[in-house]
Amino acid sequence: MSKHQTDLIMCRKQPGIAIGRVCEKCDGKCVVCDSHVRPATIVRICDECNYGAFQGKCLVCGGSGIADAYYCKECTILEKDRDGCPKIVNIGSAKTDLFYERKKYGFKPRN
Ligand SMILES: [Zn+2]
Ligand SMILES: [Zn+2]
Ligand SMILES: [Zn+2]
Repeated sequence: MSKHQTDLIMCRKQPGIAIGRVCEKCDGKCVVCDSHVRPATIVRICDECNYGAFQGKCLVCGGSGIADAYYCKECTILEKDRDGCPKIVNIGSAKTDLFYERKKYGFKPRN
């Protein structure tokens, strides 16, 4: 089970009417806990995360969205769907940065 959400930061702004999207790879996965079971509540994201180049992009990895994003049943019961916009907003938001961020916590940089 992936634990990526522990070191990722979510947007958490007030969601608007825009529905979150996920890419082929992330399709069927709960955007909060990565669970692949029982998608229950459709994800709504804030206007900012649905603006311009972000529009229709995967909430989790930034790939091109092909399906609507969902919270699983469990996260819905825990009201994680009310925590605000769940888009991952890591600094730089590129995958290489993400990798670097992870390394940073695990290892001391040499310079
Ligand atoms: Zn979940
Ligand atoms: Zn947002
Ligand atoms: Zn994705």
